[in-house]
Amino acid sequence: MIARWWEALRRRRDLRSIERRAISDTLWQQALDGLPFLARRPAEDLERLRRLASLFLDRKEFSGAGGFVVDDAIAVSVALQASLPVLELGIDQYDGFVGIVMHADAVVAEREVVDEDGIVHRYDEVLAGEAMEGGPVMLSWADVRGGAPGESQPPTAYNVVIHEFAHVLDMRDGQPDGVPLLAGSREREGWLAVLMPAYDRFCERTVCGYDSVLDEYAAEGPDEFFAVASEAFFVTPQALKEEQPALYRLLASYYRQDPAAL
Ligand SMILES: [Zn+2]
Repeated sequence: MIARWWEALRRRRDLRSIERRAISDTLWQQALDGLPFLARRPAEDLERLRRLASLFLDRKEFSGAGGFVVDDAIAVSVALQASLPVLELGIDQYDGFVGIVMHADAVVAEREVVDEDGIVHRYDEVLAGEAMEGGPVMLSWADVRGGAPGESQPPTAYNVVIHEFAHVLDMRDGQPDGVPLLAGSREREGWLAVLMPAYDRFCERTVCGYDSVLDEYAAEGPDEFFAVASEAFFVTPQALKEEQPALYRLLASYYRQDPAAL
């Protein structure tokens, strides 16, 4: 009884959010036009994505860094792309953070590593985006726009929004390790039994110089492999299914979507 009451309350709250943050037809169409891989989606999916994007806009806070102005078109585009991985999982998956910090361009972060001899090495890392556990998600608008038509298209399934939000999902169990929050240790073992051989196969292909649908950055570790594979899963699903069928099935069962079948 309480569960039903709670569910009704929740639905009412969500409806209010969707009304409050309704996305105009013009802005919505503009956002869709920038993401040609969504053209295959049925109208029903797009309508649900539009509602999820409104919920996302209502729950998250965008801020621009260094004077960058986040206008409605930018916020709607990010909200739409971030909603895609949670289309069947629900927007609550993103409850662990509120802020999204947008930069005009990629950010150079100063990094430090200490080697075995205790010597500190400093280097610069160029970031198109970054997700931290419980912290804000950082995105570079230049990189978010990178996949838009008319721009020079990157050869792989580059999508920095899906990438960073896959990291958010990965970190829901507290660990950025390529394993999202699953029911228990058996499910975790089952996940690793598919993910790790797929990761090893990808690394071998990369070393041997074979082309892959996955960006070579995926070789950095299982966490990046999951994030990069998630990009390909949504942007170039057929190609991922052909190259890594078991990995495709793993992601399809987790995201509860089968974009290659559309
Ligand atoms: Zn990453």
